[in-house]
Amino acid sequence: MSRVLVVGSVALDSVETPYGSQEEILGGSATYASVSASFFTPVNLVGVVGTDFPKAYLNLLKKRNIDLEGLEVRKGETFRWKGRYGYDLNVAFTLVTELNVFEQFNPRLPEKYCGLSHVFLANIDPDLQLSVLKQLNHPQFVALDSMGFWIEKKKRSLLQLLKKVDLALLNDQEARMLTGNTNLAKAGKELIRLGPQMVLIKKGEHGVLFFTKDFVFSTPAYLLETIKDPTGAGDTFAGGFMGYLAKGKKQDVASIRKAIIYGSVMASFSVEDFGLNRLLTLKSSDIQKRFNEFKLFTRF
Ligand code: AMP
Repeated sequence: MSRVLVVGSVALDSVETPYGSQEEILGGSATYASVSASFFTPVNLVGVVGTDFPKAYLNLLKKRNIDLEGLEVRKGETFRWKGRYGYDLNVAFTLVTELNVFEQFNPRLPEKYCGLSHVFLANIDPDLQLSVLKQLNHPQFVALDSMGFWIEKKKRSLLQLLKKVDLALLNDQEARMLTGNTNLAKAGKELIRLGPQMVLIKKGEHGVLFFTKDFVFSTPAYLLETIKDPTGAGDTFAGGFMGYLAKGKKQDVASIRKAIIYGSVMASFSVEDFGLNRLLTLKSSDIQKRFNEFKLFTRF
C-alpha cells in the first residue's frame, strides 16, 4: 500500500449556509483531502498552522493515521477562511480570507516524504506547488487542484504546472476561466492539450466529467436529500480518489473509474454535515455501501 502526500491549506473555517453556521472549525484544502484519503491509505500532510491551532485538531488528524511531520507550526495565527452559501450550494461567497502564517508558507518536505509515490497538490500558490514538485523523487502520480484567484494572478505558473502533473482537478467555472471556453466538452479537451494526461471537471451536485485524450467518463453526484455544508467537497473528492489509487497501486482505466466513484462517495458524505463532522464518524462499511448503491443507480 502506498502513502498519499497532501500539500495545501490547514485552516480554521467559519461557515454559514441556509442550514446553520459554525465558527472556527477545522478546515482547509489539505485537511479535507487528508482525512478523506486516510480511509484508504496512510497520509503525509504538508502545511502550516499558527501557535493558536487547537491541539485537539492535531490529535484528531494523528488519530486518522495522518503523519504531521510536514505540518509546520509557526509563531502567529492560523489561516482563517469565512464563507457563506445561499440556496444554490454550488456557489461559495468568500467573506474573509486571513492568510496569517500561510502568507510566509514555503513548503519544505521532510526527507522521508520526498520518495512518496502519490501526491495531491491541493489549492495553494502555483509557485509553491512547483517548488514541491522539485523536491520529489519521481512520483508515480501527481494530481493538482487550483482556484480562480490563481488562474487570474498566476496563469503562467499554472500553465507550467499543467505540463508536469498527471491529473488536473478544476471546477466548471475554473475550467472555463482557464481555457476561455464556455463549453465544458471543449474546455476539457483544451485542458488535455495543455499537458496533463487526465482532467477532471467538478460540477458540484451535478457530478464530474473526466477526460483523457482517448475517452471521456461522466458520472452524476450521489443523490442526497440532506446537504448542510458543501465546503471542502472538491478536496474530499480528491482525497478519496488519490487514496483509492494509492491503495490499489494500479492506474488502469478500470481503477481510475472506480477511484472517481470513491471520490464522489467521500464528497457525498462530507457535505451531509458541517466541516469534517460526517467524515469523522464514517465507517469503511458506510463507504462500501454507498459505493454499491452508486453502481445500482447509474446502471442502465
Ligand atoms: P473548497 O470547498 O474546495 O473551495 O475548499 C474549501 C477549503 O479551502 C476551506 O476549508 C478553506 O479553508 C480553504 N481555502 C479557502 N480559501 C483558500 C485559499 N485562498 N487558499 C487555500 N485554501 C483556501
